[in-house]
This record gives sequence, structure tokens and C-alpha cells, in this order.
Amino acid sequence: MSVENPIPAGRLPSPEDNLPVGVDRHTYEQPALLHISSALASATDPEVFYSTVLETIIPAYAPADAGTISLWDEEEKHLVVRAALGYENVTLRCRHFRKGESLPGKVFAAQAPQLFPTPQAIVAAGVNTHPEDIVYEEKATGAPVCPRSALGVPLMLGEEIIGVLLLEQWQPAPPFAAADIPLLQTLANLAALAADRLRLQMELERTHADAQADLSSLDLLSTLAHEMRTPLASIKGYSTALILEEVQWDPEKQAEFLRIIDEETDKLEEIINDLLESSLIEAGRLEITPEPILLPRLVHEIVDEMLHRTDKHRFVISFPSDFPIVEADPRRIHQVLHNLLDNAVKYSPHGGLVVIRGEVSQSEVVISVADQGIGIAPEHLNRLFERFFRAREIEEHVAGSGLGLPIARAIVQSHGGRIWAESKLGEGSTFYFTLPLGEQSSALAEE
Ligand code: ADP
Repeated sequence: MSVENPIPAGRLPSPEDNLPVGVDRHTYEQPALLHISSALASATDPEVFYSTVLETIIPAYAPADAGTISLWDEEEKHLVVRAALGYENVTLRCRHFRKGESLPGKVFAAQAPQLFPTPQAIVAAGVNTHPEDIVYEEKATGAPVCPRSALGVPLMLGEEIIGVLLLEQWQPAPPFAAADIPLLQTLANLAALAADRLRLQMELERTHADAQADLSSLDLLSTLAHEMRTPLASIKGYSTALILEEVQWDPEKQAEFLRIIDEETDKLEEIINDLLESSLIEAGRLEITPEPILLPRLVHEIVDEMLHRTDKHRFVISFPSDFPIVEADPRRIHQVLHNLLDNAVKYSPHGGLVVIRGEVSQSEVVISVADQGIGIAPEHLNRLFERFFRAREIEEHVAGSGLGLPIARAIVQSHGGRIWAESKLGEGSTFYFTLPLGEQSSALAEE
């Protein structure tokens, strides 16, 4: 004949359950233990783990209605309350206990379960509690009274004690008894094991993350090495060709080789500058020296540079004739415009129109660079300004380091401006940046 389990799933039998005579309460402990151990084993968040332990054990374990878990801090040489349940106020979590101090400290010192079956026993054990901690307890429990009974067990990992689980009984009920100790110690051992599993898991995740970071910096180094090797190979190849004694190059060829060497050296210099610049920005050492600048003139200079590099693109510069003078660092803004125009050319391999426009609003100027190139997928638009971000599909076809846009953003932001992009895949992209107008220029712009 099967007897229905009178104990709700996950709860341990208590003396109040009035189990039928002749029924051993241990019969009902096993399913509850299984339930609790699987709840602990499936805990995944180390931050809330100890609260989970209390939330799992206290409702299952009569007569407990409150409890704490304190962990040993080897540096400070005291127990720190890491989780508390059943108190009105979480200030209890600020508490700490030296070895031998109050209830948790006594359990820690003894490294064995300690039963405090009466309020008198609890008061006697708490006699050496630090006055500051008594205030905490009063605040935490809402009244300067003490529990009716308590039971503390050590959290053991093999031979090592890592903390203390203390359960308290505040409501009227049969008090904790020596018979409760083996079961609570079993639960505490399960909790300690689960905590250790989580610690190992976290360590593993950290190692994994470090390995990933190492890998991505390796990836990065190999990308940069590749980017630098390409221009280097051209420089080496053409200069070796030029100094070959047995070949007499005609002046036209010589000039062409020298032009290529010159261009490739520029590319190399650009990558090295970007890297240096980027590390300066990372270190928060980007310096800006503003002076009055004429943006349309700067744009013309950069477009002239670009015209030497491409005959597939046409450039249109559109600035209103009364475009105001802005206060900015000319070298840095040159860098921003250069990066944007360079990208406009690089990422429109079939050529097309590149339009650089300047507009003025009340308090700022807006510069845009629009191309008719490959465009940017919507999911990449937000990531463009991340260091080393490159859209995967173009990575192999177009040289680049993924540093140009983050540098541009840092420069624009340090001038008090904003930078963003709009794009349609396959149709082209427009990059915008703003620079604030000083009070004088704003007034002129308004006029
Ligand atoms: P790099 O050009 O060296 O890769 P950037 O930081 O300048 O580095 O650009 C980051 C990425 O943004 C590029 O790899 C590319 O995927 C995308 N991108 C930038 N400008 C454009 C553009 N005008 N058209 C399409 N994609 C662009």
C-alpha cells in the first residue's frame, strides 16, 4: 500500500508535521534533499548564489524563519555577512564577525555545528558582540530582541572552512534540536560544493575571456602586420628595381616607380600614425589646440590630395558663401576630414560622386561627406566607431585598420561635436559631424 507524502515537495519534515506514529521523518527527507540539491546545483549567478541558498533552505527547513550566510575574509580576518533572509532590514549585510565573536564567529572558531536552543543561550553567545554590530542587529530585526533558538553549521570545503550558515527561529515553534544538525550540515555541505562549482566556473569563464582577448589582440596584430606588409612589399619591390644596375629604366618608368614608393610610404605612415594616435586617445591624452579655421579651404586642400589618388571619383564641395569661421584644431579636423574622404573613396571601388557639404545652424556647423559606394548594413551602423571594427564582408578586399572612425569620433567629441553615419547597403553612405560655434560666430551665423 502506498502512503501519500504529507510533506509538500521541497520541504523537509518538521516536528510540527505530526507524522503518523511509526513513520520515520527521514523517509521524507530524501526527496526534499534531492529537490534542494538540484536547486543549488542549477544556480548560475554567483552574485545571488548565497541568497538562493537561503531562499531554498529556509522555507524547507522548519523551524527556521530567518538566516544568514557569512563568508570568511582572509585579508580582513573576519566573517562578512554575504546573504540574509527573513529580516526586515538588509543592513544586517553590513555585519562582520571576528573569530569567536557572536553566533557565526563561535561556529567558525569551533569549525563544527553549534546549537543555541534558547534565547538565553543566544544572549550568552552574543555577549562579546561588537557594540556597533548590536546596533546593526537592532536595525536589521526592527527590535532589540533575540531569536528563540538558532543553529549554525560551518560551510566546509574538504578540510577548509569557508564560512558559516546560521539559521534562526523567531516565530513560536518547537526550537532547533540536536537531531536537526546532521541534515543541516548535509545541506551546508551541498551549498559549499555548489559555491565551489560556481567559483570554478567563474574562473574558467575568466580564463576563457582572457584567452579570447589574447586571441583578438593576436588577430589584430596579424591584421595590422598584414596592412603594413602590403605597402612595405611595394616599397621594397620598386626601390630594388630602381637600384638594379643591369636595368636602365627610362625616366617615365623611374618617375612612376618613385610615385608608387611615395604613395606606399604615405600609407605606411598613416597606419603607424593611426596606431599611435589611437593609443594616445586610449590613454586620454588627445590634445586640442583650437584656432580660427576656414573649413571650406581645408576641405579643398584635402580634396586636392584625394584627386592625386583617384581618377574614378568626382568631388563636389558645397559650402554657403557666408560659412562662418570655426574655432578648432586645424591638424585634427584635417585628420577627421581626411579619414572620412579616404573611406568615401576606399568604400566606393567603382568610383562615383563624393559630396562634401557644409551647413550652418544656430549653434553649430554640420559637415557631411556622402559617397555612392558599397554602403553599410544597418546592424553595423552602431558599431562603426568602435576601435578595430571592420565590416566582415569588406575586410579581405579593402585595406584598413578599423581605427580611422574611432579616432575621428574622439577628435570631434573633444571639440564638443557629434559624429554619425547614415547609409543604405549598395547605395552609399553619408557621414556627418558637427562642430559647435563660438558665441561670436553664432551671432554672425544668425545674422
Ligand atoms: P578602416 O577603413 O581602416 O577599416 P575605419 O574606422 O575608418 O577603419 O572604418 C571602420 C569600418 O567602417 C570600415 O572597415 C568599413 O566597414 C566601414 N566604413 C567606413 N566608412 C565607410 C563608407 N564610406 N562606406 C562603407 N563602409 C564604411
